[in-house]
Order: sequence, then structure tokens, then C-alpha cells
Amino acid sequence: MDKLKVAFIGLGLIGGSIAMTIRKKFPDAEIIALNRSAATLDSALKDGVINAGTHEIDDNFKECDYIFLSAPVDTNISFLEKLKPYLTEHTILTDAGSVKGKIHHAVKECLPEAKFIGGHPMAGSEKSGYANANDHLIENAYYILTPSSSVKEPDIYKYMDFVEKLDAIPLVLSAEEHDYVTAAVSHMPHIVAYSLVQTVMETDSPEEYMKMIAAGGFKDITRIASSDATMWEQICLENPDNIRILIAEFMQRMEQFDDFIRNADGDKLHKSFDEIKNYRNSIHDGRKGALQKIYDLHCDIKDEAGAIATIATILSTQGISIKNIGIVHNRAYEQGALHIEFYDEHAKAQASATLTRHGYTVFPN
Ligand code: NAD
Repeated sequence: MDKLKVAFIGLGLIGGSIAMTIRKKFPDAEIIALNRSAATLDSALKDGVINAGTHEIDDNFKECDYIFLSAPVDTNISFLEKLKPYLTEHTILTDAGSVKGKIHHAVKECLPEAKFIGGHPMAGSEKSGYANANDHLIENAYYILTPSSSVKEPDIYKYMDFVEKLDAIPLVLSAEEHDYVTAAVSHMPHIVAYSLVQTVMETDSPEEYMKMIAAGGFKDITRIASSDATMWEQICLENPDNIRILIAEFMQRMEQFDDFIRNADGDKLHKSFDEIKNYRNSIHDGRKGALQKIYDLHCDIKDEAGAIATIATILSTQGISIKNIGIVHNRAYEQGALHIEFYDEHAKAQASATLTRHGYTVFPN
């Protein structure tokens, strides 16, 4: 196989992470990147992630196997016309955007002859930018591919094979299926989380008792309401029809529960909760999906000065980084007085083994 050549437009969290993974898996690949910030390009050159950086579409984009559009969706669209002269018979043009309809429409208008296969790695972080990118972000994550209708099967298989070599899990959907499915499991849940927090914010007492005891379980189920407001504004405006269909579906279920409660219908409540619980427990947990996973555990500690510092020291001597640590004051849903969050599965497993060895009782979630 000839040396792989890949170009990126936008080298932030997602573009940077994909580039780092390609560098790890294909050390000889030629990787080039266009980015607005020169500092990012300098870092990526220094890290050995890219071979060349540029601020405009130029001859660096010749003869690429893959071109990744990994800037915000409207920025990606603004570059399509300029890419035209650089697309060859063997160039697969792809993107990383969270909504697919708009980019597919733009490519059809402007580059109908392009081999465009949309892409959406189901991985992310609340942080953005190249500085937060890493070479394992997409590992074990679903990577949705949305081929445009003109793309032939061998090219789809070629891209699927590439995704597998990057240790992600390819899943081919149409752009329409992608936007409906992600509206259900990512976009609408964000709106529900924002609404739950808003309900507490606007109905709390002057003493803010709700906010006080919202620690723990409530904070966990509304974690995604801390997501970036600009990104979610854009997603809602790019996928409005699907999101509105699913909001309506959700509201029907809220009305149904309201009916059951108003009629004091314990049987129906119980039957619904039981069915939903079983379905929820059947959801595969070993892979990264549409919402970012949390890697955390709870641990029992004695109520004495220095107890948290001791645990932090034990973990840091093993080289385990802590993302978040705190006492759980509201223990209605959790076992263990201390809640610790890690950056990945490996750190969580290591911490659990280390703390158990030191005599702590650990409750992995
Ligand atoms: P980011 O902000 O980390 O990176 C965007 C990059 O694009 C930055 O390096 C920025 O400098 C560059 N850029 C922006 N405007 C530019 C311009 N006009 N010219 C050149 N470069 C420009 O964002 P991200 O989180 O990596 O998101 C990138 C894409 O991936 C988006 O389309 C987003 O929808 C999608 N996505 C994000 C996530 C997530 O959780 N963050 C997950 C999956 C997909």
C-alpha cells in the first residue's frame, strides 16, 4: 500500500484526536492540517502529529486518501468549493460534525462528484481544542458513517476498514437515520437535562434547599447540562425537525406519567417503571456511545481530618490522575461517602484495585 496521506481542516479536540490516532496506528502517514490558530499547528508539528501545517487550501491538499472536515459545520461548508481542484479518484472526503443533514446538502450542491462519506465519532469531552485532544478518544467508540448516495460500496468498506484500524467501531447509517437517532439519544436528552436544571433553578425556595441537596444523583443525571451553550445552540438549529419530533414524544410520556400519578394508578406506574428498568439494563455498557461516559467510583472514608488528602496521595503515587473528587452529602442514591471521577476506564480500574489493597471499601458504579 502506498503511504497514507490524510488532511484535516480544523485540528481541535476531534480533528486533533483523530490525527493523533492515525499517527499512532500509521506512523509513516503523511498528515497535513489547516487550522486558524498558528499555535495549534506549531504544537502539532512539535508533537510529530502532523508533517505540515497551513492556513489555507493549497497544494498540501494534493493526492489525499482522506480529507477530514473537523471544524464547526458552517466553517466546514465554507471550505468545500476551495477543495474542488484537489479531490481525486481515490480521495474520500469526510467530516466529523454532530449533525449530518446540512453538510450532505451542501456537498450535493457544491461537490456532487465528490466521494463524500459523512463521519461522526461518538466520542467527545466537555473540553475543546487541540490541547485536550488525545490518541485514544475514539477508541472503542461507535463511529457513524453516512455515505452520500453516489459513493460505491468498495469506498464504504475501505473507510470502515480504516475506522476499525483506528480501534473505533464503524456503523453505516443514512444521514437522515443519523440525525433522527442522535436526536433521540443525544440532542433531546441535552434539552431534558437543561429543563430539569431549569425547573430546580426557577422553583427553588429562597433558602435554595433544592440546590443544596441536588449534590450527587441529581447532578449526575443532569451532567450534560454543563455542555457548551454555543455548540448546543448550533446542534438544535441544525437538527430542528427531528429534535421537535422527539420532544413531542417525550412530552407524551410525561403526560402519561402525570395521568398515572393523578389517578393514583400504582399498577401502571409500577409496570412502566419495571419495563423501562429492564430495557435500560439491557443497554450495552462496554462501548462509548452518543453521550460521554463517566468513569467514577464511590469509596467509604472515615470522617477525620486529612482523609481525602490520604486518598489523593495514594492515587497520585500510583500515577493515577483524579478528574473530580468530593464528599457525597446527599447519600440517597449512592453507597460510599467519597465520590471520585477519573479520565478513563483504565485509571478507574487501577484506582479501584489500589484503594481496595489499602483496605478501603470501594463501590464501582
Ligand atoms: P474544537 O473547537 O475543539 O475544534 C475546532 C477547530 O477548528 C479548532 O482547532 C479551530 O481553531 C478550528 N477552526 C475553527 N474555525 C476555523 C476557521 N475558520 N478556519 C480554520 N480553522 C478553524 O471543536 P471540536 O469539538 O473538535 O468539534 C469539531 C467538529 O466535531 C464539530 O463539527 C463538532 O460538531 C464535531 N463533534 C464534536 C464533538 C464534541 O464532543 N466536541 C463530538 C463529535 C463531533
